[in-house]
Amino acid sequence: MSTRELDIIPLYDWGMFTEPRPSVVAGPCSAETEEQVMETAKGLREMGINVYRAGIWKPRTHPGSFEGVGSEGLRWMQRAKKEYGLKIATEVASEKHVFECLKFGVDLVWLGARTTANPFLVQEIADALKDTDIPVLVKNPVNPDLELWIGAIERLSNAGLSRLGAIHRGFSSYGEKCFRNAPQWQLPLELRRRIPELPIICDPSHIAGKRELVMSLSQQAMDLNFDGLMIETHCNPVCAWSDSRQQVTPDELMLMLDRIVHRTAVADNNEVSLFRRQIDDIDDTLMELIAKRMAVAKEIGEVKREKGLAVFQARRYNETMQRCDEYCRCAGLDAEVMKEIFEVIHSESIRLQLDIVNGNITK
Ligand code: PEP
Ligand code: MN
Repeated sequence: MSTRELDIIPLYDWGMFTEPRPSVVAGPCSAETEEQVMETAKGLREMGINVYRAGIWKPRTHPGSFEGVGSEGLRWMQRAKKEYGLKIATEVASEKHVFECLKFGVDLVWLGARTTANPFLVQEIADALKDTDIPVLVKNPVNPDLELWIGAIERLSNAGLSRLGAIHRGFSSYGEKCFRNAPQWQLPLELRRRIPELPIICDPSHIAGKRELVMSLSQQAMDLNFDGLMIETHCNPVCAWSDSRQQVTPDELMLMLDRIVHRTAVADNNEVSLFRRQIDDIDDTLMELIAKRMAVAKEIGEVKREKGLAVFQARRYNETMQRCDEYCRCAGLDAEVMKEIFEVIHSESIRLQLDIVNGNITK
């Protein structure tokens, strides 16, 4: 599927990001006090950061958690803008937030993950932003729904906004996990394919949920050619009123940014082309094998139909997965990843067999 071309101004022409790459938005999860806003801003300014973020209205999972200081915090940010020459950025989740931001000279707004998931709110915000052409970043929705993400960007584009970008902050899932929000990199990569002109920024802080993982996620985002990073930074992270586990100090941020290795994005040398030809051959073989496997699955489908056997045989499925697991152990492959691949292959076989058994396909 392709998306119609949107009228989007490249990130470097927004007049706020000066570094060639990556463009960085940094600042605390939440504005807490005037002192904290000013001290963090000072630390970041000294490190050469230009765009300063702070949450003013916080969408919290549980009532009773710190829900942001509200418009008063915008006054503190305005002071940081004036005293340190920073561009200021915050999250908007309603028309009222937009009007408050415009009143206080906010330079960039972003839509949070929970807002992007709600087309009514996105439309309300797009209508309120009409005629401003203020830069707007759209975080991915909490659930891995690319269409919802693109739909939000289209609504803003339809409102005449052209300084548009996306923020990848990972996707929620149930249960224990390594990351707070699963990165599912394939979604921002597919977004890039669908809207190539759209700048994409990674928010490793909300993906990670803990500061130790922020560096490696930032590196990964750079390796995947993201345009920038949004990193939660606080003058005293352990005492932060929200997201304290994932915030870093301005000094730590600088160390991280210095350590990021920038690799050349376009691999067009001979050595790489040689390997790519090998990969193409291997992919052809893989597809041939999958086609053969499907043909055999169809034969089995015929037998199941004739003999009145159930299509899904749990014991057989477990055996297949077990074999895959054993093979991975010997071959040094990641068993979890291979399991996912086999689950997809197996479910396609089942789909073909169901068609045969239900008489939708005649051989
Ligand atoms: C935030 O940036 O502080 C925030 C609330 O993020 P998200 O919308 O990604 O949860
Ligand atoms: Mn946060």
